[in-house]
Amino acid sequence: MNNERGYYQGFGGAFIPEILTATFDQLVKAFQEAKHDPGFWQEYLEIMSTYSCRPTPLTFAENLTRHFGGAKIYIKREDLNHTGAHKANNVMGQGLLVKRMGKTRVIAETGAGQHGVATATMAAKFGFECTIYMGEVDVKRQRPNVFWMERLGAKVVPVKDGARTLKDAINEAFRDWVRNMDNTHYVLGTACGPHPFPEMVSYFQSIIGTEARKQILKAENKLPERVYACVGGGSNALGIFSGFMDDPVALVGVEAGGKGLNTGLHASRLSSKDGSIGVAQGYKTFFLQDEDGQMKETHSVAAGLDYVGVSPILAGLKETGRVRFEAATDFEVIEALALTIQKEGVIPALESAHAFARAFKEVPSLSPSSAIIINQSGRGDKDIFTVADAFSDPAWKAFIQQKAEEYNAEKLY
Ligand SMILES: *Cc1c(COP(=O)(O)O)cnc(C)c1O
Repeated sequence: MNNERGYYQGFGGAFIPEILTATFDQLVKAFQEAKHDPGFWQEYLEIMSTYSCRPTPLTFAENLTRHFGGAKIYIKREDLNHTGAHKANNVMGQGLLVKRMGKTRVIAETGAGQHGVATATMAAKFGFECTIYMGEVDVKRQRPNVFWMERLGAKVVPVKDGARTLKDAINEAFRDWVRNMDNTHYVLGTACGPHPFPEMVSYFQSIIGTEARKQILKAENKLPERVYACVGGGSNALGIFSGFMDDPVALVGVEAGGKGLNTGLHASRLSSKDGSIGVAQGYKTFFLQDEDGQMKETHSVAAGLDYVGVSPILAGLKETGRVRFEAATDFEVIEALALTIQKEGVIPALESAHAFARAFKEVPSLSPSSAIIINQSGRGDKDIFTVADAFSDPAWKAFIQQKAEEYNAEKLY
């Protein structure tokens, strides 16, 4: 799938400041050694099973299957991980590497705050010092996650550069790393960035696909016809896809279609015509950028999919045609979410609901003797503010107003 320097069909690479070369060499070496040490994966499986509910179940969605009358629908339950998403797979794995390298401090970027919470949780568990970089705009929008990061002992630094969102937080995290590389590891949150991050993050996330393949073979005695996953940076998709890469199974990555691919208000780098090849943030991939290479504003109802770049591994898999990319709009996503909650009693994250939305479009045309898997990358409890607004729930609005009134009257605190 890749060569030694982390190139995938010409995408990827490591475009880093020279001062970080030794740090990256150290990381590549530590990762390669860990990969070849059977004890390391054992240690990883041990912590994932005792701290994060692995293996996560594969749930047969009987009611949705009956509703659509096509292929059998199975859901891979990454929502049942500790901290509520597949992000735990990556942060715990990198945490074990940090221990191996003898470092004592971790830093991370976060947009919506989910990766920040996961990293702060890992740091608390392993006893590392932790700093999280977050755009100032996101700090304001995502107060609940900032609250938990701080309770978990992390220092949250609001980034005031640029648009004050995720890409600015990533740049600031790299600046910190340059200053503190001796004791610090940068826990990058997805399968993006300079080599070895795309490969390393996918490696830890491959636990999803390894489990899912075994589980579906046990349940159905054959492989699924298609596997669906949402694509932000690409880590949960690569995680589940990796289990089926060499099988005759269609792999479908679903990006944020936002308000529609013809509106410019989306985050579809691979499934729209708006993405173009460039080098930024240390790697080469498809970015949403203008002719001058300036990054565009992106939009999605799901904060975790709202990113200008995408994994170079996925860009390579688009090039070879191994993975098909589609987009789901905000509207389709909210509809799919409502249906899934009602029919199955599970609450997918808004990000994950993109995979559900696309699968629901395709599943009626598939034979009832076949099966599909949808990766439920996370749980949707975190999305209550966004989802309640989208459903225009009057009782929720009244609740928020009442809370505000209580604060104003100083009845709270
Ligand atoms: C962060 C996040 C994503 C997007 O990240 P990927 O690297 O593309 O997987 C998707 N789903 C959930 C629930 C997330 O928290």
